[in-house]
Amino acid sequence: NGNLDVTKAIETIRRIKDIVDINKEYLTELDSAIGDADHGINMSRGFAKALEKVKSNEYNDIGSVFKDVAMTLMSTVGGAAGPLYGTFFMKASMKLAGQKEADLPLLAQAFREGLQGVVSLGKAQLADKTMVDALTPAVEALESAAKDGLSLKQGLEKALAMAEKGMKDTIPMVARKGRASYLGERSAGHQDPGATSSYLILKALCDALEG
Ligand code: ADP
Ligand code: MG
Ligand code: MG
Repeated sequence: NGNLDVTKAIETIRRIKDIVDINKEYLTELDSAIGDADHGINMSRGFAKALEKVKSNEYNDIGSVFKDVAMTLMSTVGGAAGPLYGTFFMKASMKLAGQKEADLPLLAQAFREGLQGVVSLGKAQLADKTMVDALTPAVEALESAAKDGLSLKQGLEKALAMAEKGMKDTIPMVARKGRASYLGERSAGHQDPGATSSYLILKALCDALEG
């Protein structure tokens, strides 16, 4: 029926692991320009562990899949991104607890909760040059697609396009949160690594739903 069920949720984690691996050097290169050159390594390690974890378990609801991913990211990924993505998946998992599948309205709610978790932990506002700049327009696109009665896949495609735009929009921004903020004005002219990994995560989710 096109909704996100347990099988597709696990497939999503597999695809995130793959896309993060393929882009490991790219993410690290972006982070070397304005950070400490470890974002690709952090994400790759975290999602490899998360995939191991969800493959080794049996699940009756998608909330539990996301919760295991969250705990794994929090415990295995250092730096800023681990706790932030961990919080995203944890808050989303609470909305998805007990659910066998998610349609677009439910996933939009879960991702809104996830984003709110990221914002309350990291305190980044829009245009601070962080993952929030990719995640916010993506969540807004999911919500407006849900309002328009679109399918999950259609909603995610719109969200992905908005995340890509949000990611590119970080290029001219001056960082005000995280390590990149230490560079001040010199952070301008570089795409944010975390906004880029957020785009890749959504891409993996879209691909998993295409089967
Ligand atoms: P670290 O900076 O600790 O080495 P990573 O390199 O893994 O961690 O992740 C860096 C990314 O984390 C940044 O590109 C940015 O998108 C995101 N980030 C950093 N601080 C914040 C914050 N306070 N709120 C939201 N996102 C943040
Ligand atoms: Mg880093
Ligand atoms: Mg680091």
